[in-house]
Amino acid sequence: MKGASELTPMGKIVSLAKRRGFLFPGSEIYGGLAGTWDYGPMGVELKNNIKQEFWRAIVYSRDDTVGLDAAILMNPKVWEASGHTEAFTDPLVECKTCHERFRADHEDEIRAHESEHKKKKEKIEWTEPRKFNLLVEASLGSVEDEKTKVYLRGEITQGVHVNFKNVLNSTRVKIPFGIAQIGKAFRNEITPGNFTFRSREFEQMELQWYVKPDEGESLKWFDYWKEERRRWYISLGMRKEKLRFREHASDERAHYARAAWDIEYDSPFGGWKEFEGIHNRGDWDITQHAKHSGEDLTYFDEETKSRYIPWVVETSGGVDRAALFFLIDSYREEEDRTVLKFHPKIAPIKVAVFPLLANKEVLVSKAREIYKELKLSVITMWDDRGNIGKRYYAQDEIGTPWCVTIDFQTLEDETVTVRDRDTMAQERIAVKELSEYFKTKLL
Ligand code: ATP
Repeated sequence: MKGASELTPMGKIVSLAKRRGFLFPGSEIYGGLAGTWDYGPMGVELKNNIKQEFWRAIVYSRDDTVGLDAAILMNPKVWEASGHTEAFTDPLVECKTCHERFRADHEDEIRAHESEHKKKKEKIEWTEPRKFNLLVEASLGSVEDEKTKVYLRGEITQGVHVNFKNVLNSTRVKIPFGIAQIGKAFRNEITPGNFTFRSREFEQMELQWYVKPDEGESLKWFDYWKEERRRWYISLGMRKEKLRFREHASDERAHYARAAWDIEYDSPFGGWKEFEGIHNRGDWDITQHAKHSGEDLTYFDEETKSRYIPWVVETSGGVDRAALFFLIDSYREEEDRTVLKFHPKIAPIKVAVFPLLANKEVLVSKAREIYKELKLSVITMWDDRGNIGKRYYAQDEIGTPWCVTIDFQTLEDETVTVRDRDTMAQERIAVKELSEYFKTKLL
């Protein structure tokens, strides 16, 4: 294994993520399964926090959106209607020498592969690009020859659109309004890689926003949601200068999209990379589902007394890519430590509680008492390994914003030291004020 100092910037993050329990290769003890990842004890907290903050911003803090959680398995007709069985493809080329496959539009990977062969003085020739469908197939049913072919959903979007009428009939939403959803999607990616960036199983967080079928109206909301989503990442601590918008060229857009912009992050693996897309889907989805299902999916507008099929502005983000970029963005190497400077709202653990000395029973029992109390109001971890320096080091590496130490003074005056992760400054706080102190900081 390479020593830490020999690793690339990305290698260091991958190594920390494994060492500290953020991410493990999927099915690792069996040699893994390409394109799958398991979130460890710290990773699951980070990812849950991102999802909760998304839900808070998109559903709880507004009165014009509702949530939904649709099934992963859907009637295969859904994917015919949405165009995915036909058009959800990537162009694939195969190296004729070693039969490795690449996406024809990933020129950097193709060039790198060519130079590998050239180095070994081997011939390099490619097949013509051909279409490769990304939907993952599964089969349902217990009798072998009566099995039905189904797909694991390739995007979570369609589960929302097929429920458009159900939501209209069961809630009081009025256009413009949105339906939010978070959930797993699956794609048979040709070249999974760059850590979790391109996986075959991943999670999406989306908003489908229904508007009047009007160019001006959809443009207004498109601009609004584009800015809102960028603002959300910045509000959770992502550095502004690491983000940018990029408009898709017309030949790059998905089959349904009238307009498409990506929010990109300046990554350590090849620069700007997409992690959320804002798309104007027009009336594509609802029109297609109305046609293929035979149901009337029009909306009756009370204001204008007219019936229409709404247009959709969509924000579609990857939870795993967001987690990866929050991890990368918060990673800092300082003189004596490595620290993840997560925004407290997404930090896996908010507070760690230590007894100054792990072998002094009076300190340990007092610290336990404070720990138990604090745990009721804020995500708190107990830590009594090694010495204080080691504990700070370990908590910095998982990005815990505050460490509380119980020392001999605590026994005299009921105060503790609170050490701030970023400034490393320490202050004394009364035990009875601790819970309020952290709650205020986490607002
Ligand atoms: P790419 O061009 O990178 O393949 P895409 O344009 O096909 O992505 P969308 O279909 O717009 O992506 O999906 C919306 C979001 O879902 C993406 O911005 C990304 O965050 C996430 N996503 C898509 N594919 C993957 C994947 N294979 N692994 C992890 N996240 C993904």
